[in-house]
Amino acid sequence: MTIALIAHGGAGRWRPGSDEDAVEGLRRAVEAGRAILLAGGSSLDAVCATVVALEDDPIYNAGTGAVLNFDGFCELDASVMESDGARAGAVSGLQRVRNPVLVARKVMEETDHVMLTGDGAQRFARVMGFPDHDPVTPERRADWFDKRNRVDEVLGEKALRMRRFLREHPEYAGGTVGAAAVDSRGVLAAATSTGGVTLKMVGRVGDSPVPGAGNYASAHVAASATGTGEFVLRSLATRAISERVEAGAGLDVAVQAVLDRLGADYDADVGLIAVGRDGLTVARHRTRDMPHAFFRGESAVASRMRVGDR
Ligand code: ASP
Repeated sequence: MTIALIAHGGAGRWRPGSDEDAVEGLRRAVEAGRAILLAGGSSLDAVCATVVALEDDPIYNAGTGAVLNFDGFCELDASVMESDGARAGAVSGLQRVRNPVLVARKVMEETDHVMLTGDGAQRFARVMGFPDHDPVTPERRADWFDKRNRVDEVLGEKALRMRRFLREHPEYAGGTVGAAAVDSRGVLAAATSTGGVTLKMVGRVGDSPVPGAGNYASAHVAASATGTGEFVLRSLATRAISERVEAGAGLDVAVQAVLDRLGADYDADVGLIAVGRDGLTVARHRTRDMPHAFFRGESAVASRMRVGDR
């Protein structure tokens, strides 16, 4: 089987000057996953290592450096899924953990459940040995103060308007992270982690922890979505990619069709990455930027700010 991995750093618009750091961070994270796959490791280990590297890098909106909710604290969502046995694990609303993706993996491996949320997820994390960690960085705190002072302008009449506003303002970069991989046994896995959207209501859960919405792995495809989660939830975007591939579409055609649908139905500001069983990787986005990096087989890691860049 041909090994492959692709990862994204969030659909959105990156602040001028942060482009290179975003692309370089993706490249390093994918190198970490690649080393695992090259050594014969599992796609699950590879996507988790990739996402952990991105969660630990404060420029992305996941783990340390995640955006704050309306009340000024982080609520972190993450999920993992593996094609073998269609196993999935997820957490939402975690407040004080360094690597939510690893807690999601523990939910999959150590419980009978698929998703734990809020206080229960936090308690489970502690029982599993994850120490207390404050993910709020000074930069995100300052950003939150600024937006809270201009809340009418930022949110508009309803929350989804916020994302249209964000498109025009580079300082509101996305930065959710996700990875999808296939290993030498042909097992596919995906992992996604996020702080959600800026100034979200306390308790809001996006697409990232929901299997089939922001994250999915089947025998055909592993995929991760980014962008306004409400649209991805309503369209079950990653599951839709898998269904199209199962029905015979090529991976790139399937990803593009799902993205087009998100555009036609919602004018959604979203991005998608996917890997197929054969190791083909695809990235597509409707936002200006979506930093991503990927490799296949023996190839070196390539990284780009947007599809079409060289
Ligand atoms: N999809 C994430 C959410 O809605 C945010 C993002 O990808 O930027 O929580």
